[in-house]
Amino acid sequence: MTEAAVLSLFRQSGALLEGHFKLSSGLHSAGYLQCALVLMRPRDAEALGAALADRVRGLGATLVLSPAMGGIVIGQEVGRGLNVNALFAERVDSTLTLRRGFAIAPGERVLVVEDVVTTGGSTRETIEVARAAGASVVGACAIVDRSGGNAGLDVPFHALLPMALPTYAPEACPLCAQGLEVVKPGSRPGALKA
Ligand SMILES: [Zn+2]
Repeated sequence: MTEAAVLSLFRQSGALLEGHFKLSSGLHSAGYLQCALVLMRPRDAEALGAALADRVRGLGATLVLSPAMGGIVIGQEVGRGLNVNALFAERVDSTLTLRRGFAIAPGERVLVVEDVVTTGGSTRETIEVARAAGASVVGACAIVDRSGGNAGLDVPFHALLPMALPTYAPEACPLCAQGLEVVKPGSRPGALKA
């Protein structure tokens, strides 16, 4: 799947909005990404998972591990593509933890799967969950890489779509300077249906 094809899926589903947005961090941006809107379409989710699986097949993963919530759907689909089990870790008192009877055997070859990597923080945490169980982490992947190559991971990292979405402090926002109205994404029901 080409980067253009991935981008097209995001635009069609309203998962990528272009305009002038106020993010939950308070920063402004010209773009807003909500992967859940592309992953809610089962055929598209499956296609994205298959494309990621093709990229990472050579790593020889025996298990997929994703951080909840964002990584769960795409982790399942990459697991389907690789024909390996897909687990997720979730936060308990802010610490990523395996629950629900999930266990990772020592010696498993784990692939960490995310929807979007921005700072790489949750990916690194997920890698540590696998290592703490005695597994070896053979790589990580994401649909979208917003890190600009700065995810800082110590394992091979693959993404289908690199995407730079710069953010601005409101007082330094070039879109505000142009007098464009700022929108808070998701603040109204249906507002994300572009
Ligand atoms: Zn602005």
